[in-house]
Amino acid sequence: MALTVLPALPWRVPAGRRARALVPGLLLLAAVPLGASAPPQAGASPSACALFLERLPGVTQRQCSAARLEPSGQRSQQGRPLFWRDVVPPAPDAAADRLRVLVVGAIHGDELTSAALALQWIGLAEKSGRPVHWRFIPVLNPDGLLAPRPTRVNARGVDLNRNFDTPGWERDAPLYWEKRTRKDPRRWPGPAPLSEPESQFLHAQMDQFRPQLVVSIHAPYGVLDFDGPHEPPQRLGRLRLDRVGVFPGSLGHYGGVQQGMPVVTIELDHALKPPRAAEVHSMWQDLLRWMDTRLLNTDLAAPGPMRRED
Ligand SMILES: [Zn+2]
Repeated sequence: MALTVLPALPWRVPAGRRARALVPGLLLLAAVPLGASAPPQAGASPSACALFLERLPGVTQRQCSAARLEPSGQRSQQGRPLFWRDVVPPAPDAAADRLRVLVVGAIHGDELTSAALALQWIGLAEKSGRPVHWRFIPVLNPDGLLAPRPTRVNARGVDLNRNFDTPGWERDAPLYWEKRTRKDPRRWPGPAPLSEPESQFLHAQMDQFRPQLVVSIHAPYGVLDFDGPHEPPQRLGRLRLDRVGVFPGSLGHYGGVQQGMPVVTIELDHALKPPRAAEVHSMWQDLLRWMDTRLLNTDLAAPGPMRRED
């Protein structure tokens, strides 16, 4: 059959997960407050909370304001600002001693809880007491998040998590899309690697900020995944490690496999129903504990592919 023409890469999504992935999306979309926000006029800069708050389940106005998201200067396909926030420990830590950690939510615009969690973690990062320079991008795909019905893909129909410049993308990404997803419009990798402003923006962060850990938040598979060097975390809160494998053009493939940078992928249980506050804290504490053991107390002091000091 046609699938046998594919190269033997570790592409694997358990059938049970595929089925689970479809159902929550169909059932829960009814709970999304509809009524779209129109794409902004050129030059307009609405605040992040004015744009996103109604689409962030479980996030209060106070939490959103306190997160102090700022426009990065880059914009989405439809011209919405791509917001970010840096959390840097107070002096006297030397910048060279800080671990750089990038946290990204809503690469897929219909995974609203992923954006909410990234935003809520900003407040916890401010109190973490670690020598860490955090960079948060809670909503990488604002056009998908703010569509009348939120979409996984961006405004051009591209799955941003298949649009990264991984080796052999030109062959493997379209082939995977055609043969494995049967041209699923929710998983179109795009016309070329890094064809989209959102993936270009994230790629620039990988290149310029040079994170030593990437935390990529998704939903609704209810597992923890890991790519790259180091012993992976076995659990974050209720989520247990269950490695899914890599996909052509995915962030985990690009960061973890190609760049040798650890990528922790969090798949929350639900795309629209947020985790409880205790679970938000529990996942955060488990992440810090793993960072303490695997990154802060060992590898930062040792040479290795993660450490680029130029
Ligand atoms: Zn996702």
